[in-house]
Amino acid sequence: MQRHHSLGFDLETRLRERERSGLRRDLVPIDSVDARARTAADPKGEPANFGAERLIFASNDYLGLAGDPRVAETAVRAARDVGTGAGASRLVVGDTSTHRSLERRLATEKNAERALTFSSGYAANVGTITALAPDVIFSDALNHASIIDGARLSDATVEVYDHCDADALAQRMAERFSDGVTDESWLVVTDSVFSMDGDVAPIEALCDVAEEYGAWVMVDEAHATGVYDGGIVNERGLENRVQVQLGTLSKALGAQGGFVAGDETLIEYLLNAARSFVFSTGLAPPAAAASERALALAPDRRDALWTNVERLRTGLEALGYEVLGDTHILPVLVGNRDEAVALADRITEAGIVAPAIRPPTVPEGTSRIRLTPKATHTDTHIEQCLTAFETAMTKGGCP
Ligand code: PMP
Repeated sequence: MQRHHSLGFDLETRLRERERSGLRRDLVPIDSVDARARTAADPKGEPANFGAERLIFASNDYLGLAGDPRVAETAVRAARDVGTGAGASRLVVGDTSTHRSLERRLATEKNAERALTFSSGYAANVGTITALAPDVIFSDALNHASIIDGARLSDATVEVYDHCDADALAQRMAERFSDGVTDESWLVVTDSVFSMDGDVAPIEALCDVAEEYGAWVMVDEAHATGVYDGGIVNERGLENRVQVQLGTLSKALGAQGGFVAGDETLIEYLLNAARSFVFSTGLAPPAAAASERALALAPDRRDALWTNVERLRTGLEALGYEVLGDTHILPVLVGNRDEAVALADRITEAGIVAPAIRPPTVPEGTSRIRLTPKATHTDTHIEQCLTAFETAMTKGGCP
């Protein structure tokens, strides 16, 4: 007898609900990862429908290494010599010399005893937090979704403290401590560079507070890896006070994957206990090889990136725009969500691609355009971007 289930999944309704609350997203086809690329006006478009070239100011490939021929050549060689995929979990037969070599390089980069790669930064966060299985996680209010998901999956009690506020962390810890709970394992976790605000966590102050209570500190350097020498933890000499340094190979290093660096015991434990490592195929060898090459090339690209960041920030401020943060990510504050969308549309008309970031991603009244200059934008590209914002201002009354 066939049984009928009358409910099923009404996905059309769910999609309509998302649309109503502004959460419906579309794919945006693009024909290359270069600073200048063609995008399709129609999200469902095929390459044949690609329009004119636009300048992309929305990529996390900050150093332009995803399109670097030397990195590509290294990836091709690894694909030929080792394989396009690892073929198995690292714990079975997927542990190649390409992985080992990259992990040694990452450990050096992070001033750590050892490093371990994951198939993405997302998998690294979820796998690491669940494997540590803390009793309590103290999490910055603006931490990335993969940290939030790891915390949820870990079953820990989550205490969210105000963004970048070490005093708020201290207060939460003091409150929890005065509840008389003293035998819990505590983990403080924070992004280093925050992707929507372009600001940096007060890592040293967070370490001061954590150390008072014997808590561990984990820092997600996804947006800092490659851009800052060794990451922000290292730049500030905090590598011996941060037990878990996490990063991604997918942004400034232009490849794909994630990693954790720390002491020998941490890494040995994670390769046994992090389920997203144990039960997932090892990082693809071309991505591992490309990342190692990118790490070697990154320092030479940094000056070009910072020159572009400064020119763009100064130029936008001279036009009257308020630019948040103090890193290579430039959030241009608009305020009202509809005005942010209108501004994004106007700069797109002028050939610049940068997204409007709206609630619920950011709080109401703080909608913004998130601009990410790259090392490979030319002076002319930066000028064109500034002209687009200037024209948008005269057309739409912004800022
Ligand atoms: N952490 C942070 C802070 C991120 O911004 C991201 C990516 N947006 C990730 C982790 C996930 O990294 P990946 O893209 O390599 O999965």
